[in-house]
Amino acid sequence: MDSGWLVLLSVAFGLVVGGGFMALFHVAERRGNSAVDVVNPAVPDGVGQVIDALESAGVVLDPSNNVVKASPGALATGLVSQQVLVHSELIELVNRVRSTGEPVVQPVQLARGPFGDASMHFLVRVARLGSRYILLLAEDHSETFRLDEVRRDFIANISHELKTPIGAIALLSEALDPAADDPEQVRRFAKRLHTEAARLTRITQEIIELSRLQAADSLRSAELLDVDHLIAAAMDQNHVQAELRGTTLVKGGAKHVQVFGDESLLIMALHNLVGNAIQYSLDNSRVGIGVRVEDGVVEIAVTDQGLGIASEDLDRVFERFFRVDQARSRNTGGTGLGLSIVKHVVENHGGDVRVWSQLGRGSTFTIRLPEASTVAIAPQGDSR
Ligand code: ADP
Repeated sequence: MDSGWLVLLSVAFGLVVGGGFMALFHVAERRGNSAVDVVNPAVPDGVGQVIDALESAGVVLDPSNNVVKASPGALATGLVSQQVLVHSELIELVNRVRSTGEPVVQPVQLARGPFGDASMHFLVRVARLGSRYILLLAEDHSETFRLDEVRRDFIANISHELKTPIGAIALLSEALDPAADDPEQVRRFAKRLHTEAARLTRITQEIIELSRLQAADSLRSAELLDVDHLIAAAMDQNHVQAELRGTTLVKGGAKHVQVFGDESLLIMALHNLVGNAIQYSLDNSRVGIGVRVEDGVVEIAVTDQGLGIASEDLDRVFERFFRVDQARSRNTGGTGLGLSIVKHVVENHGGDVRVWSQLGRGSTFTIRLPEASTVAIAPQGDSR
């Protein structure tokens, strides 16, 4: 064989061997998704398998703090990257255990990523593993922590909301006694007492409704409902308020549309939207309630030409107790619970609620619900 052929043969051989290694490398890299493997293979027997089987984060570190083994959970939560621990808080714990020899169990709050304020909450255990290694186990408690925070916030908010009218009632009732000889004063205090008591009743009712909604599956009592009827009832319930403010309520759009659901809950949701539209508009304004059906989705839009909501507040209006203008809304008797009730009601019905709004131009709140299946349910010759 001449030397030209020899060169070609060697190149081909080199390519085959190189390709094979590349393929092996690729497969090994893909496997690496399930666990970061050993830099130093001398991890004590069985520890590797245990770490592989862990759902939570488990990491073994060598004397230079290199990660020699990490569970998939440690990678997924971002505790380990490039075979080192990412968070200095964890490195400190590891160093402490290495120097004292004493195991540590400690709750630790860690940054979720390189940017932003979001954090994760772990219960971390660190202990020596043989004479060379350190074992770190971290259980992710972030979800439990978040739920606790929501509950704490809710309780703090409720207490605050209840304290205001209760305090006012206490003061007014005290003031009544010395004013007994002044009928004018008595009448004034009695009127304010009535307002505060009504406010207390409203908050209590809304809190009860909200907890009922959060606990219950409303569709257990679902019946076939006529959307026209739901809107008429909601408009009727806001009739007095609309008249007082000189607001014209106008209904338009598709007719004879049907949805499945709980009648009183859906009326309450629409009532809250129409009530807000009147409340947050100037006197003698116009509020429209329109119905549309598209691809099996019923859209009920409540539109006003009122104050509107600033874009930075739009995402928050469905939160419990959120009010754009705390002071003004408190004066108008708002509890900040109305829209979170709407959100829960429609979500329990398999729908959602969206808002469009611009300051000074007005708002449109749109409830979307699945249309009741007309094939199975509606009378023959649906008249829509
Ligand atoms: P509230 O009992 O205070 O009305 P909601 O949960 O119903 O509570 O509404 C939350 C806040 O969203 C209100 O305080 C108000 O600032 C704002 N908001 C709701 N609906 C409208 C609307 N149609 N136009 C302008 N602002 C609104």
